[in-house]
Amino acid sequence: MARSAKQTKFIFVTGGVLSGVGKGITAASIGSLLKARGLSVNIQKCDPYLNMDAGTLNPAEHGECFVTHDGAETDLDVGHYERFLDTELTAASSLMSGRILSEVIGGERSGRYLGQTVQFIPHVTDHIQRTIAATGKSFDVHIIEIGGTVGDYESLSFIEAIREMGVNLGPDNCLFVHVVYMPYLGASGEFKTKPAQNAVRELRSLGIVPDALIARSELKPPKSVLPKLSMFTGVEREAIALLPNAKTIYEVPLSLEAAGIGDVVSRRLGLRSQKPDLASWQRVVKSASTRYRSTIKVGIIAKYIDNQDTYMSVFEALRSAAWAADVNIDIVWVNAESLEKDKNLRSALTALDGILVPGGFGRRGLEGKIFAAQYSLTNKVPYLGLCLGLQMAVIAAARNTGLKGATSVELNEKGASRVIDYMADQKDKAFTGGSMRLGNYPAKLEQGSLARRVYGQENIIERHRHRCECANAYRPKYAKWGIKASGLSPDGHLVEMIEATDHPYFLATQAHPEFRSRPNRPHPMFLGFIKAVIANS
Ligand code: GLN
Repeated sequence: MARSAKQTKFIFVTGGVLSGVGKGITAASIGSLLKARGLSVNIQKCDPYLNMDAGTLNPAEHGECFVTHDGAETDLDVGHYERFLDTELTAASSLMSGRILSEVIGGERSGRYLGQTVQFIPHVTDHIQRTIAATGKSFDVHIIEIGGTVGDYESLSFIEAIREMGVNLGPDNCLFVHVVYMPYLGASGEFKTKPAQNAVRELRSLGIVPDALIARSELKPPKSVLPKLSMFTGVEREAIALLPNAKTIYEVPLSLEAAGIGDVVSRRLGLRSQKPDLASWQRVVKSASTRYRSTIKVGIIAKYIDNQDTYMSVFEALRSAAWAADVNIDIVWVNAESLEKDKNLRSALTALDGILVPGGFGRRGLEGKIFAAQYSLTNKVPYLGLCLGLQMAVIAAARNTGLKGATSVELNEKGASRVIDYMADQKDKAFTGGSMRLGNYPAKLEQGSLARRVYGQENIIERHRHRCECANAYRPKYAKWGIKASGLSPDGHLVEMIEATDHPYFLATQAHPEFRSRPNRPHPMFLGFIKAVIANS
C-alpha cells in the first residue's frame, strides 16, 4: 500500500460578539507564529456573501479589493495574510458563498448529483469541505477564517462544514479558535465577560467547542479575567489570550506568542515545535513604534476618505517605506472631489511634501486627481501614481503642455482627445465581474530611466486590475508633454510605467505595486518615492 500523504492540520478561526474585532489579524498572526516555527502554512478566508468574489463589492463598505498574483479579486484580509505570512497567496485563499453555490448548482446542471435532492446539507457543506481540504493540501497547517459573526444566518453552512471537518479529522488534526470581544464599562470600571460567554455558548450550540479563545478589548484587562473566562467558557486557561488594542497591528503576533498561543496550538496539533524566529517581527514593531527625528507629509488624493480601509495596502506600503527611511509619515487624506473646486483645499497642497494618487474607478473625483498631478508636475513635488494614478498623470502632462481637452474614457466617453481609453478587449465589459485585466503581467523597464533605477532591474512583474490603458496613438506626443513611457509590456503594446523627464520623482505605474509591499521589505517604488519626498521636505 502506498504511504498516505502528509496530513494537513486545520485551524478554524471564528468570531463572536461582533464583527470587526480583528479575526483576520488574529488568523494571520497565528499563521506567522507557525511559519516562524519552520512550518509550511496556507490560509484562506471564507466569506458568507453571495458574491463570487470581492471585485464588485463597494470598497467604501468593505474596504480595499486585494488582488492576488493569479488574478483573484479578494477581501482585504487576504492582504493582511500576505503581509503577515510574507507569501504570495492564490485565488483559493478567498472563498465566497457565491462561488460555492454556483459550483454546486453548476454541478447539478451537469448531472453530478443525478437522482439526488440537492441540499445545503450535505451537498453545499461537502463542497465547502472539499474546497477547504484542497486548499490546505500539502501544507503542514491550513488556517481558515470564517467571515462574519457566529450565529449569522448566512454563515451557517460554513460553520456546519467546519464542524463536520472537526468530527471527520479528529482533535489531533483540527483546532477551533474563537475571537471574542470584551467590553469595558467605564462607569463601574470593569471588563465584562458576559458577551464572550454568550458567544461561546452560541458556537457550542452549533456543535463546535472552541479549543482556544482570543479575547479582544480596547483597554488592557487585568489578569483576573482569565480564570473567569476559562470557568464560564470551558476553554482551558492556557489557551486563552487577552488581546487589548495594540499600538500597531504588527504587535499582534508577538502578543499572541507572549500569551503562549503559538506553543498551545503546536502542542495540541502535534506540530514539530522549533523555537520561533520572531526577529523580523521584533524589527517591524520597533520601526513602527519608533518616533523618528523628522516627519514627512504625504497627501493621498482619494475618493473614499471616510473609510481608510479602502486604501489598506497603499497605507501599509507607505508606512513601511517611511520606517525603512527612518522618518515619521503623516498621511493626509485629500478629498479628490472637493479638490475639483475648493480653492482653499487647492492651496493647501503646498503643505504636502509628496502626492500619491491611488487606484480607482468611475468619474467621481477624477478632475481633482488630474489637478493634483498637474500641480505636482508644475511644482516638482514628488508624485507616485498607482493605476488610475498613472492615467491621471498622463492627462495632467497633456493638459499642462497645451492639449486642454485631454481626457480619459471614464471621464468623457465621447471626448475627442482620449489619451486614456479602454483596452481593445475591454470595451464591452464595463461593470461586469471578474473581467478586467487582472493579476500578474510582466513589463520591461527602459535603460537609464527612473523606473529602472528604482527597481534595479529590467524585467519586472506586477499585479494589475484595470480596464483602461494609455492610448497608443498619443505615445509619439509624450516627449512633447514632458513624459516618457519607461515601462512597456514585453510586446511593446501596453504602457506599464510613465515618468516625467524633468522632475525629481514623478513616477506612475499601470499596476498595483502596493500589493507586493511587505512591512519589513517595502516595495521599491514606495521606497524611492519616500526618499524623494524626504529630499523635498
Ligand atoms: N479605472 C481605471 C481602469 O479601469 C483604473 C483602475 C484602477 O485604478 N485599478 O483602468
